Amino acid sequence: SHTSHDFTNPLTLLNASAQQGGVESGTRRKVKRLLSFQRYCHDSRLLRGLVPCAPGSLHFLDDDYLGQAAHMLSKVGTWNFDIFLFDRLTNGNSLVTLMCHLFNVYDLVHHFQLDMVKLHRFLGMVQEDYHSHNPYHNAVHAADVTQAMYCYLKEPRLAEQLSPLDVFLGLMAAAAHDVDHPGVNQPFLIKTKHHLASLYQNTSVLESHHWRSTVGMLRESGLLSHLQDIEQQLGSLILATDISRQNEFLLTFREHLDNQDLDLQLASHRHFILQIALKCADVCNPCRVWELSRQWSERVCEEFYRQGDLERQFDLEISPLCNQQADSVPAVQIGFISYIAEPLFEEWQRFTEPSALSRTMLGHLHKNKACWSSRRCAPSSPGTRTDSPDEEPGPEAGDEEGEDTP
Ligand SMILES: [Zn+2]
Repeated sequence: SHTSHDFTNPLTLLNASAQQGGVESGTRRKVKRLLSFQRYCHDSRLLRGLVPCAPGSLHFLDDDYLGQAAHMLSKVGTWNFDIFLFDRLTNGNSLVTLMCHLFNVYDLVHHFQLDMVKLHRFLGMVQEDYHSHNPYHNAVHAADVTQAMYCYLKEPRLAEQLSPLDVFLGLMAAAAHDVDHPGVNQPFLIKTKHHLASLYQNTSVLESHHWRSTVGMLRESGLLSHLQDIEQQLGSLILATDISRQNEFLLTFREHLDNQDLDLQLASHRHFILQIALKCADVCNPCRVWELSRQWSERVCEEFYRQGDLERQFDLEISPLCNQQADSVPAVQIGFISYIAEPLFEEWQRFTEPSALSRTMLGHLHKNKACWSSRRCAPSSPGTRTDSPDEEPGPEAGDEEGEDTP
Protein backbone atom coordinates (compact mmCIF):
# COMPACT_ATOMS: atom_id res chain seq x y z
CA SER A 1 0.00 0.00 0.00
CA HIS A 2 3.00 2.31 0.25
CA THR A 3 4.78 1.35 -2.90
CA SER A 4 4.75 4.87 -4.27
CA HIS A 5 6.71 6.31 -1.37
CA ASP A 6 10.38 7.00 -1.31
CA PHE A 7 11.67 4.28 0.98
CA THR A 8 15.18 5.58 0.82
CA ASN A 9 14.19 8.42 3.12
CA PRO A 10 12.77 7.37 6.48
CA LEU A 11 11.41 10.82 7.18
CA THR A 12 9.39 10.77 3.99
CA LEU A 13 8.06 7.41 4.98
CA LEU A 14 7.15 8.53 8.49
CA ASN A 15 5.39 11.60 7.18
CA ALA A 16 3.52 9.61 4.58
CA SER A 17 2.38 7.16 7.22
CA ALA A 18 1.32 9.91 9.55
CA GLN A 19 -0.82 11.39 6.81
CA GLN A 20 -2.51 8.04 6.42
CA GLY A 21 -3.60 8.06 10.02
CA GLY A 22 -0.86 6.53 12.04
CA VAL A 23 2.03 4.21 11.61
CA GLU A 24 0.71 0.70 11.39
CA SER A 25 2.91 -2.14 12.48
CA GLY A 26 4.02 -3.18 9.01
CA THR A 27 5.16 0.31 8.28
CA ARG A 28 6.78 0.68 11.65
CA ARG A 29 8.66 -2.48 10.92
CA LYS A 30 9.80 -1.06 7.60
CA VAL A 31 10.90 2.16 9.24
CA LYS A 32 12.79 0.27 11.89
CA ARG A 33 14.56 -1.74 9.25
CA LEU A 34 15.23 1.30 7.15
CA LEU A 35 16.69 3.23 10.04
CA SER A 36 18.77 0.27 11.02
CA PHE A 37 19.97 -0.11 7.46
CA GLN A 38 20.80 3.55 7.12
CA ARG A 39 22.61 3.48 10.42
CA TYR A 40 24.48 0.51 9.12
CA CYS A 41 25.38 2.19 5.84
CA HIS A 42 26.44 5.26 7.70
CA ASP A 43 28.60 3.27 10.08
CA SER A 44 30.02 0.95 7.56
CA ARG A 45 32.60 2.53 5.39
CA LEU A 46 33.64 -1.01 4.70
CA LEU A 47 30.38 -1.75 2.96
CA ARG A 48 30.36 1.52 1.10
CA GLY A 49 33.89 0.83 0.05
CA LEU A 50 33.16 -2.67 -1.08
CA VAL A 51 29.87 -2.48 -2.79
CA PRO A 52 29.80 0.16 -5.49
CA CYS A 53 33.33 -0.57 -6.65
CA ALA A 54 34.97 -3.60 -8.05
CA PRO A 55 36.99 -5.84 -5.74
CA GLY A 56 40.33 -4.26 -5.17
CA SER A 57 38.86 -1.11 -3.73
CA LEU A 58 39.85 -2.12 -0.22
CA HIS A 59 42.99 -0.07 -0.13
CA PHE A 60 41.33 3.22 0.73
CA LEU A 61 40.12 1.91 4.08
CA ASP A 62 42.19 3.51 6.76
CA ASP A 63 40.34 2.73 9.95
CA ASP A 64 41.97 0.04 12.04
CA TYR A 65 38.97 -2.25 12.49
CA LEU A 66 37.72 -1.91 8.96
CA GLY A 67 41.21 -2.42 7.64
CA GLN A 68 41.44 -5.62 9.63
CA ALA A 69 37.99 -6.71 8.46
CA ALA A 70 38.98 -6.05 4.86
CA HIS A 71 42.14 -8.02 5.41
CA MET A 72 40.08 -10.90 6.77
CA LEU A 73 37.86 -10.78 3.69
CA SER A 74 40.89 -11.35 1.51
CA LYS A 75 41.14 -14.76 3.24
CA VAL A 76 37.43 -15.49 3.37
CA GLY A 77 37.95 -18.81 1.62
CA THR A 78 40.17 -20.29 4.32
CA TRP A 79 38.75 -22.77 6.75
CA ASN A 80 40.17 -21.18 9.91
CA PHE A 81 38.34 -17.90 9.21
CA ASP A 82 37.32 -16.46 12.60
CA ILE A 83 33.73 -15.32 12.12
CA PHE A 84 33.47 -14.11 15.73
CA LEU A 85 36.38 -11.73 15.20
CA PHE A 86 34.99 -10.67 11.83
CA ASP A 87 31.63 -9.90 13.44
CA ARG A 88 33.30 -7.71 16.06
CA LEU A 89 35.42 -5.91 13.47
CA THR A 90 32.31 -5.15 11.38
CA ASN A 91 30.35 -3.96 14.38
CA GLY A 92 27.87 -6.83 14.23
CA ASN A 93 27.43 -6.69 10.48
CA SER A 94 29.24 -9.86 9.54
CA LEU A 95 26.37 -11.32 7.54
CA VAL A 96 25.65 -8.28 5.36
CA THR A 97 29.33 -7.52 4.84
CA LEU A 98 30.19 -11.11 3.98
CA MET A 99 27.29 -11.48 1.55
CA CYS A 100 28.11 -8.22 -0.23
CA HIS A 101 31.70 -9.32 -0.57
CA LEU A 102 30.79 -12.75 -1.94
CA PHE A 103 28.29 -11.25 -4.36
CA ASN A 104 31.16 -9.14 -5.65
CA VAL A 105 33.52 -12.09 -5.83
CA TYR A 106 31.07 -13.95 -8.06
CA ASP A 107 29.88 -10.82 -9.88
CA LEU A 108 26.30 -11.79 -9.04
CA VAL A 109 24.98 -8.23 -8.95
CA HIS A 110 25.95 -7.75 -12.54
CA HIS A 111 24.97 -11.22 -13.67
CA PHE A 112 21.46 -11.08 -12.25
CA GLN A 113 21.03 -7.36 -12.82
CA LEU A 114 20.35 -6.80 -9.13
CA ASP A 115 19.38 -3.42 -7.78
CA MET A 116 22.00 -2.48 -5.16
CA VAL A 117 19.53 -0.60 -2.98
CA LYS A 118 17.16 -3.57 -3.00
CA LEU A 119 20.00 -5.96 -2.29
CA HIS A 120 21.12 -3.92 0.71
CA ARG A 121 17.58 -3.61 1.92
CA PHE A 122 17.05 -7.36 1.67
CA LEU A 123 20.33 -8.31 3.36
CA GLY A 124 19.74 -5.75 6.10
CA MET A 125 16.30 -7.23 6.73
CA VAL A 126 17.67 -10.77 6.88
CA GLN A 127 20.45 -9.85 9.28
CA GLU A 128 18.11 -7.88 11.47
CA ASP A 129 15.49 -10.63 11.62
CA TYR A 130 17.95 -12.96 13.28
CA HIS A 131 17.58 -12.74 17.04
CA SER A 132 20.78 -11.29 18.41
CA HIS A 133 19.95 -12.52 21.93
CA ASN A 134 19.94 -16.16 20.83
CA PRO A 135 23.25 -17.62 21.98
CA TYR A 136 23.47 -19.80 18.88
CA HIS A 137 20.81 -19.20 16.24
CA ASN A 138 21.78 -15.62 15.47
CA ALA A 139 23.19 -13.73 12.48
CA VAL A 140 26.75 -14.82 13.31
CA HIS A 141 25.71 -18.45 12.86
CA ALA A 142 24.18 -17.47 9.51
CA ALA A 143 27.42 -15.73 8.51
CA ASP A 144 29.40 -18.77 9.64
CA VAL A 145 27.25 -21.11 7.55
CA THR A 146 27.59 -18.74 4.59
CA GLN A 147 31.37 -18.71 4.92
CA ALA A 148 31.44 -22.51 5.10
CA MET A 149 29.14 -22.71 2.10
CA TYR A 150 31.53 -20.51 0.17
CA CYS A 151 34.39 -22.88 1.02
CA TYR A 152 32.31 -25.82 -0.25
CA LEU A 153 31.30 -24.02 -3.44
CA LYS A 154 35.03 -23.64 -4.14
CA GLU A 155 35.68 -27.38 -3.91
CA PRO A 156 37.41 -28.38 -7.17
CA ARG A 157 34.91 -31.21 -7.74
CA LEU A 158 32.11 -28.67 -7.65
CA ALA A 159 33.34 -25.20 -8.58
CA GLU A 160 33.62 -25.64 -12.32
CA GLN A 161 30.22 -27.26 -12.66
CA LEU A 162 28.23 -24.63 -10.78
CA SER A 163 26.17 -22.07 -12.64
CA PRO A 164 25.86 -18.50 -11.33
CA LEU A 165 22.32 -19.43 -10.28
CA ASP A 166 23.61 -22.35 -8.20
CA VAL A 167 26.09 -20.07 -6.44
CA PHE A 168 23.47 -17.40 -5.92
CA LEU A 169 20.98 -19.88 -4.44
CA GLY A 170 23.61 -21.52 -2.27
CA LEU A 171 24.74 -18.24 -0.71
CA MET A 172 21.21 -16.89 -0.30
CA ALA A 173 19.96 -20.08 1.32
CA ALA A 174 22.94 -20.16 3.69
CA ALA A 175 22.43 -16.55 4.73
CA ALA A 176 18.70 -16.92 5.33
CA HIS A 177 18.39 -20.56 6.45
CA ASP A 178 17.64 -19.82 10.15
CA VAL A 179 16.13 -16.34 9.88
CA ASP A 180 13.84 -15.32 12.76
CA HIS A 181 14.75 -18.50 14.68
CA PRO A 182 13.02 -18.26 18.07
CA GLY A 183 15.82 -20.03 19.96
CA VAL A 184 13.67 -23.05 20.81
CA ASN A 185 13.14 -26.23 18.81
CA GLN A 186 10.15 -27.68 17.00
CA PRO A 187 8.98 -30.00 19.81
CA PHE A 188 8.85 -26.95 22.08
CA LEU A 189 6.72 -25.02 19.58
CA ILE A 190 4.40 -28.01 19.22
CA LYS A 191 3.89 -28.65 22.91
CA THR A 192 3.34 -24.99 23.68
CA LYS A 193 0.84 -24.80 20.80
CA HIS A 194 2.76 -21.99 19.13
CA HIS A 195 0.91 -20.58 16.13
CA LEU A 196 3.80 -21.53 13.82
CA ALA A 197 3.34 -25.20 14.73
CA SER A 198 -0.31 -25.22 13.68
CA LEU A 199 0.44 -23.06 10.64
CA TYR A 200 2.94 -25.63 9.34
CA GLN A 201 1.08 -28.66 10.73
CA ASN A 202 3.91 -29.72 13.03
CA THR A 203 6.19 -30.54 10.09
CA SER A 204 9.49 -28.75 9.44
CA VAL A 205 7.92 -25.91 11.41
CA LEU A 206 11.06 -23.83 11.86
CA GLU A 207 12.49 -24.47 8.41
CA SER A 208 9.18 -23.60 6.77
CA HIS A 209 9.11 -20.40 8.78
CA HIS A 210 12.70 -19.52 7.79
CA TRP A 211 11.78 -20.03 4.17
CA ARG A 212 8.47 -18.16 4.23
CA SER A 213 10.11 -15.29 6.12
CA THR A 214 12.79 -15.14 3.44
CA VAL A 215 10.18 -15.11 0.70
CA GLY A 216 8.37 -12.31 2.53
CA MET A 217 11.52 -10.24 2.70
CA LEU A 218 12.38 -10.97 -0.92
CA ARG A 219 8.99 -9.70 -2.00
CA GLU A 220 9.10 -6.74 0.35
CA SER A 221 12.48 -5.71 -0.99
CA GLY A 222 11.56 -6.42 -4.60
CA LEU A 223 15.06 -7.81 -5.08
CA LEU A 224 14.11 -10.69 -7.37
CA SER A 225 10.88 -9.38 -8.87
CA HIS A 226 12.46 -9.72 -12.32
CA LEU A 227 13.46 -13.37 -11.78
CA GLN A 228 11.33 -16.52 -11.67
CA ASP A 229 11.51 -19.81 -9.86
CA ILE A 230 13.90 -18.65 -7.15
CA GLU A 231 11.55 -18.94 -4.20
CA GLN A 232 10.83 -22.66 -4.62
CA GLN A 233 14.47 -23.54 -5.04
CA LEU A 234 15.42 -21.51 -1.98
CA GLY A 235 12.69 -23.33 -0.09
CA SER A 236 13.97 -26.71 -1.13
CA LEU A 237 17.46 -25.80 0.10
CA ILE A 238 16.34 -24.30 3.41
CA LEU A 239 13.96 -27.18 4.15
CA ALA A 240 16.84 -29.62 3.66
CA THR A 241 18.41 -28.26 6.87
CA ASP A 242 15.66 -29.93 8.94
CA ILE A 243 17.80 -32.26 11.05
CA SER A 244 14.95 -34.75 11.38
CA ARG A 245 15.39 -35.47 7.67
CA GLN A 246 19.10 -36.15 8.17
CA ASN A 247 18.93 -39.89 7.47
CA GLU A 248 16.83 -39.49 4.37
CA PHE A 249 19.44 -37.19 2.83
CA LEU A 250 22.40 -39.16 4.10
CA LEU A 251 21.09 -42.44 2.66
CA THR A 252 20.33 -40.87 -0.73
CA PHE A 253 23.77 -39.26 -0.81
CA ARG A 254 25.45 -42.55 0.11
CA GLU A 255 23.51 -44.40 -2.55
CA HIS A 256 24.59 -41.91 -5.22
CA LEU A 257 28.21 -42.26 -4.13
CA ASP A 258 28.02 -46.06 -4.08
CA ASN A 259 26.50 -46.08 -7.55
CA GLN A 260 28.79 -43.29 -8.77
CA ASP A 261 25.84 -41.88 -10.65
CA LEU A 262 26.02 -38.20 -9.75
CA ASP A 263 26.06 -36.14 -12.93
CA LEU A 264 26.74 -32.50 -12.15
CA GLN A 265 25.73 -31.51 -15.66
CA LEU A 266 22.19 -32.14 -14.45
CA ALA A 267 20.59 -29.23 -12.64
CA SER A 268 18.66 -31.61 -10.38
CA HIS A 269 21.86 -33.32 -9.23
CA ARG A 270 23.58 -30.00 -8.63
CA HIS A 271 20.58 -28.97 -6.56
CA PHE A 272 20.87 -32.11 -4.48
CA ILE A 273 24.57 -31.42 -3.89
CA LEU A 274 23.70 -27.86 -2.88
CA GLN A 275 21.27 -29.30 -0.34
CA ILE A 276 24.01 -31.55 1.02
CA ALA A 277 26.54 -28.71 1.01
CA LEU A 278 24.15 -26.50 2.98
CA LYS A 279 23.51 -29.32 5.44
CA CYS A 280 27.26 -29.74 5.86
CA ALA A 281 27.75 -26.01 6.32
CA ASP A 282 24.97 -25.96 8.92
CA VAL A 283 26.56 -28.66 11.07
CA CYS A 284 30.24 -27.94 10.39
CA ASN A 285 31.02 -26.57 13.88
CA PRO A 286 32.85 -29.76 14.96
CA CYS A 287 35.02 -29.49 11.83
CA ARG A 288 36.38 -26.08 12.80
CA VAL A 289 39.58 -25.54 14.71
CA TRP A 290 39.07 -26.25 18.42
CA GLU A 291 38.99 -22.65 19.61
CA LEU A 292 36.12 -21.78 17.23
CA SER A 293 34.43 -25.15 17.59
CA ARG A 294 34.38 -24.90 21.38
CA GLN A 295 32.66 -21.51 21.29
CA TRP A 296 29.88 -22.84 19.05
CA SER A 297 29.45 -25.87 21.31
CA GLU A 298 29.00 -23.72 24.36
CA ARG A 299 26.61 -21.43 22.54
CA VAL A 300 24.36 -24.17 21.25
CA CYS A 301 24.20 -25.83 24.66
CA GLU A 302 23.44 -22.50 26.30
CA GLU A 303 20.49 -22.15 23.93
CA PHE A 304 19.33 -25.70 24.74
CA TYR A 305 19.64 -25.05 28.48
CA ARG A 306 17.60 -21.88 28.19
CA GLN A 307 14.83 -23.91 26.57
CA GLY A 308 15.17 -26.45 29.38
CA ASP A 309 14.85 -23.63 31.92
CA LEU A 310 11.68 -22.45 30.21
CA GLU A 311 10.28 -25.97 30.21
CA ARG A 312 11.07 -26.36 33.90
CA GLN A 313 9.50 -23.01 34.62
CA PHE A 314 6.25 -23.97 32.87
CA ASP A 315 6.14 -27.53 34.21
CA LEU A 316 6.75 -29.07 30.82
CA GLU A 317 8.81 -32.13 30.26
CA ILE A 318 12.43 -31.10 29.69
CA SER A 319 13.49 -31.85 26.12
CA PRO A 320 16.45 -34.11 25.30
CA LEU A 321 19.79 -32.25 25.45
CA CYS A 322 18.15 -29.33 27.28
CA ASN A 323 18.72 -30.39 30.88
CA GLN A 324 21.80 -28.62 32.16
CA GLN A 325 22.15 -31.02 35.09
CA ALA A 326 21.98 -34.15 32.95
CA ASP A 327 23.26 -33.09 29.54
CA SER A 328 26.81 -31.79 29.79
CA VAL A 329 28.38 -29.89 26.91
CA PRO A 330 30.88 -32.72 26.20
CA ALA A 331 28.09 -35.34 26.20
CA VAL A 332 25.92 -33.30 23.86
CA GLN A 333 28.85 -32.67 21.53
CA ILE A 334 30.02 -36.28 21.41
CA GLY A 335 26.51 -37.40 20.51
CA PHE A 336 26.13 -34.71 17.88
CA ILE A 337 29.50 -35.48 16.31
CA SER A 338 28.99 -39.24 16.32
CA TYR A 339 25.43 -39.37 14.99
CA ILE A 340 25.12 -36.26 12.83
CA ALA A 341 28.39 -34.65 11.79
CA GLU A 342 30.79 -37.54 11.34
CA PRO A 343 28.60 -39.73 9.08
CA LEU A 344 27.75 -36.73 6.89
CA PHE A 345 31.32 -35.47 6.52
CA GLU A 346 32.63 -38.93 5.77
CA GLU A 347 30.31 -39.05 2.75
CA TRP A 348 31.18 -35.45 1.87
CA GLN A 349 34.83 -36.44 1.82
CA ARG A 350 34.03 -39.30 -0.55
CA PHE A 351 32.22 -36.87 -2.82
CA THR A 352 34.91 -34.16 -2.79
CA GLU A 353 38.03 -36.33 -2.83
CA PRO A 354 40.76 -35.58 -3.30
CA SER A 355 40.03 -32.55 -1.12
CA ALA A 356 42.47 -30.84 1.23
CA LEU A 357 39.54 -29.13 2.92
CA SER A 358 37.68 -32.37 3.67
CA ARG A 359 40.86 -33.86 5.14
CA THR A 360 41.33 -30.78 7.31
CA MET A 361 37.71 -30.84 8.44
CA LEU A 362 37.71 -34.50 9.42
CA GLY A 363 41.06 -33.99 11.18
CA HIS A 364 39.53 -31.25 13.34
CA LEU A 365 36.41 -33.32 13.91
CA HIS A 366 38.38 -36.25 15.27
CA LYS A 367 40.56 -34.06 17.46
CA ASN A 368 37.57 -32.17 18.81
CA LYS A 369 35.70 -35.38 19.53
CA ALA A 370 38.70 -36.74 21.44
CA CYS A 371 38.94 -33.48 23.34
CA TRP A 372 35.28 -33.60 24.39
CA SER A 373 35.72 -37.26 25.36
CA SER A 374 38.57 -36.42 27.70
CA ARG A 375 36.48 -33.64 29.22
CA ARG A 376 33.50 -35.86 29.73
CA CYS A 377 35.58 -38.18 31.85
CA ALA A 378 37.11 -35.36 33.84
CA PRO A 379 35.13 -34.11 36.85
CA SER A 380 33.22 -31.02 35.79
CA SER A 381 33.00 -27.88 37.86
CA PRO A 382 29.42 -27.69 39.17
CA GLY A 383 27.14 -24.74 38.65
CA THR A 384 28.96 -23.05 35.82
CA ARG A 385 27.86 -22.89 32.27
CA THR A 386 31.04 -21.54 30.83
CA ASP A 387 34.11 -23.55 30.29
CA SER A 388 36.90 -23.25 32.77
CA PRO A 389 40.08 -21.88 31.23
CA ASP A 390 41.96 -25.10 31.70
CA GLU A 391 44.19 -26.94 29.30
CA GLU A 392 43.19 -26.71 25.69
CA PRO A 393 44.91 -28.03 22.66
CA GLY A 394 46.63 -25.14 20.99
CA PRO A 395 46.08 -24.35 17.35
CA GLU A 396 47.99 -26.89 15.35
CA ALA A 397 50.36 -25.27 12.95
CA GLY A 398 50.74 -26.44 9.42
CA ASP A 399 47.57 -28.43 8.85
CA GLU A 400 45.47 -25.62 7.39
CA GLU A 401 45.04 -25.16 3.73
CA GLY A 402 46.82 -22.26 2.13
CA GLU A 403 45.46 -18.76 2.18
CA ASP A 404 43.87 -19.08 -1.20
CA THR A 405 41.70 -16.35 -2.61
CA PRO A 406 39.18 -16.94 -5.35
ZN1 LIG B 1 21.48 -23.31 11.14
